This record gives sequence, C-alpha cells and structure tokens, in this order.
Amino acid sequence: MTETTTPTATADVVIIGAGFAGLTAARELRHAGQTVIVLEARDRIGGRTWLDTQLGRPLEMGGTWVHWTQPYVWAEMKRYGLGTVQSPVPETAYWWGDGKRHQGDPEQLLNEIDASNRKLVADSRRYFPEPFTPFANPDVSGIDATSLPKKIAELPVSDYSKDILESFWALNFNGPIDDAAFTQALRWVALTNGDWMVNFEACATFKIQGGTGALIIAMADGTDVRLGTTVLAVEQHDDGVSVRAADGSKYRGKHVICTLPLGALPGISFEPPLPDSSRKAVAEGQVSKGIKAWIAIKGTRKPFVALGSADWPLNFAQTEYDQDGDSILVAFGPDSARLDASNLKQVQAALDLLLPDCEVLDIASHDWTADPLSGETWPMHRAGFLTESLADFQKPQGRLVIAGADYANGWGGFIDGAIESGLEAARTVHDKGLS
Ligand SMILES: Cc1cc2nc3c(=O)[nH]c(=O)nc-3n(C[C@H](O)[C@H](O)[C@H](O)COP(=O)(O)OP(=O)(O)OC[C@H]3O[C@@H](n4cnc5c(N)ncnc54)[C@H](O)[C@@H]3O)c2cc1C
Repeated sequence: MTETTTPTATADVVIIGAGFAGLTAARELRHAGQTVIVLEARDRIGGRTWLDTQLGRPLEMGGTWVHWTQPYVWAEMKRYGLGTVQSPVPETAYWWGDGKRHQGDPEQLLNEIDASNRKLVADSRRYFPEPFTPFANPDVSGIDATSLPKKIAELPVSDYSKDILESFWALNFNGPIDDAAFTQALRWVALTNGDWMVNFEACATFKIQGGTGALIIAMADGTDVRLGTTVLAVEQHDDGVSVRAADGSKYRGKHVICTLPLGALPGISFEPPLPDSSRKAVAEGQVSKGIKAWIAIKGTRKPFVALGSADWPLNFAQTEYDQDGDSILVAFGPDSARLDASNLKQVQAALDLLLPDCEVLDIASHDWTADPLSGETWPMHRAGFLTESLADFQKPQGRLVIAGADYANGWGGFIDGAIESGLEAARTVHDKGLS
C-alpha cells in the first residue's frame, strides 16, 4: 500500500529520539550522504542524560560516569577533545549488614563485597567470552531464566555477606532485584574481563569534562532536530514509512530508526505491530524503576560512600561536591514509587537510615521512571529478556530499525551502549540503501 497524505517534511531517514543513540545514528547517516530528521518529544536533546543547573551548579540528572573500558563513548570523547573529571575518592564507608550499621575504610567495604561477588560472577567470561557478542556461547540460553536473587541465595556465604551483596546489585540494577536477570550481572562484569571492581569503577568514578551536555551538543552539530515533537504512530508502506506526531505533523522517510527506551515504547503504535517477543518485553518493562537524587547537606563532609539495605528508599549515597561550606551528595534508591525525591522530609528520613548526622538542605532529581518518555532509569533486563527478546529488537522490522541503550550488545545500561546501538542502526539502514 502507498500513502497519499502530504507530509510536513520528508527525509531519507526519520529518527525518533534525540538521545545518544538517535544523534549518533543521525550523524553517521548524514556523513554517509543521507538526509535525516530527528523527532524529539522533549524541549532539549540528550534524553536520559541531562546536564541541568539545580542546587546552584551544573548537575547530571541522568547518565554521568564513563570509563576507558567503554570503547564507543571513549572514542567520541577523543573525537571532540573531551577529557574526564574524577569524582571524589571516598575516605570513609558506611554499610549495613546483619541488621547493623558498620563504618570503616572504603577498602574494607570493597573487601566485604569482594568475597561473595567474586563467587557470584565467577562464570562471567565462560558465558560471555565475547562481551559484545552476547550469544557467542549458546549455553547462555540455559541460564537466562535464572534470577539474580536465586544465585545469591545459593552462595555459600554468610547472611551478612548476602545482605551487602543484594544491596550492591539493587544499586546496579537501580530496582528491586526479584526478577533481575543473572545473565545481566554476568554481562556487566564480562565487559571488564570478569573484574567486578573495575566494573564498579566504571559506574561511578569518571565524568565527562563539561558534562554529558558538552558531548551531546558536539555530536548533534549540524543535525536537523525537531524538538517538542512527540511521535504517536509509525506506519510502514510499500515505498516508505510515515510517522505521525501529537501536534498533527507528519513525516515521511525511506526508513525509520526508533530509539525509544523499552519503558517509552507504549507511547507509539506500530503498523505492522512489533513482534510478540518485543511486545512481551515492553509489557514487562525493565527492572530499573529507581531514583537518582542530588542532596545538599549542611557542612562540608570528608568524602564518604554509604551502602544501605537493598529495600531502603535510598540504598546508596556518595559525596560529589563541596559548595559554599556545604556538601552535595548523589544518591540512588531502588523504587521511585517509594520515595518522592522532591519531598525534603522523605529524603531526610531516607538519608537518616543510610548515615548519621546529615541535615538535608535542598534536593534535586528527575523521576525518569514516572516520565512516560523514559519509563525507567538505565536499562537493566529481567530474567529471560536476553534470549527471548533482544535478538528480535535488534533485527530490522521491514523499514523500521529499533535502536538505543536498551537493545545494545555491550554496555547496554550505559551511554556507551546507546552510541554502539546508534552506530549499528545507521549501518543497517545504510546497507539497506534508499529503495
Ligand atoms: C538516573 C540515570 C543514571 C544513569 N547513569 C549512567 C551513568 O552514570 N553512565 C552511563 O553511561 N549511563 C548512565 N545512565 C544510562 C544512560 O543515560 C542511557 O543508557 C543512555 O543515555 C540512553 O540513550 P538512548 O539514546 O538509548 O535513550 P534515551 O536517552 O532515553 O533517548 C530516547 C529519546 O527518545 C525521546 N522520546 C521518547 N518517546 C518519544 C516519542 N514518543 N516521540 C519522540 N521522542 C520520544 C526521549 O525524550 C529521549 O530523548 C543513566 C541513566 C539514568 C536515567
């Protein structure tokens, strides 16, 4: 069937979403000589990265830390001449285990995690010998239905160690880990050659100089981005694809790249519909339904790190900045429905559990989970997602290609994965040609 209505604009490729995946794909296709329009619902680019100014300074409300083990984002930083800025090295650690608060050297906390975590992820390279090719070992299908808590429960370690380990992984998943995929934990650690400590360093140590905003602005240069354009429908025809937005505008391309997170995909209707396996994954969503909060506390504190219980409203905090004689912490909790991070009293109560004597002065956060344009924080898969759904998401559906960090092969929960997936999508569309 061919489509007859007159579009608002046409391009070789219409890309939905101006996060790292969408803007990577756009740049690559433009450089390959194709015309591109990027449609973005928000009034800004960057998606789940957002360098905002709150609490009187620039703060990353979403994705932040990068690492030299992440090849795609590292290459982009080199390309645009951006270095790194290190987060403060903690001098004290607080943690919770066996129903008690413990305090000590940060090395001590790392060692407490190490004994059990090493056992948990011992097989990461066996199952994921090529971490950017997640199906390289077919044995993966035999363990993908296994949940992370089941594997933690089986470990021959004390309840104290299990308390700490569960909270550590609730932090990594940024969600309650009941349905978290064991394979997801193994995939993460395989990316740092089986060394979970390097992986942890990758998650919370080095920030992009000038913030994520500096990188995304550089990558977007020259791309036609239509902000405030919320896509509602994607319809494929014999000779192209039409895209309809909430403001009544219509776009037409030979191909469409859709970079929506799993949690935002319900916002768009697809004709023909996505495969059953994709729709099942959309219905279930990601595990990561947590919260990231910035908290200004009274007085300067020596850098510390705090890991609480897996089910606390905030189960992790670390000092990030000194400002005007006060300190700014970054904190994470596993369930955004259990903590209104804009409510000072709730945040104070949550922080009181984590560490003593902190007076909360001010807070800043964005609820990515409640936000229909994300519906999750960083993508973390449920048990079964890898073998049931990932391959179908990665396969082109006619003229539609799905891309984004949620569907990456390597650093899927990260900026790196978004860039990897954007590159793949651009190559797929380019290889298909413009017929
Ligand atoms: C709180 C938090 C902390 C994180 N921390 C880190 C970290 O430290 N390091 C790291 O590497 N990664 C981190 N991440 C993950 C990282 O930010 C993401 O994996 C990455 O930015 C995702 O990029 P993307 O392009 O795949 O998706 P997105 O950035 O989500 O881009 C998708 C775009 O589509 C738009 N969109 C949605 N629906 C529609 C629609 N219907 N029509 C038009 N546009 C639409 C969205 O507004 C968005 O701009 C974090 C994420 C969060 C939320």
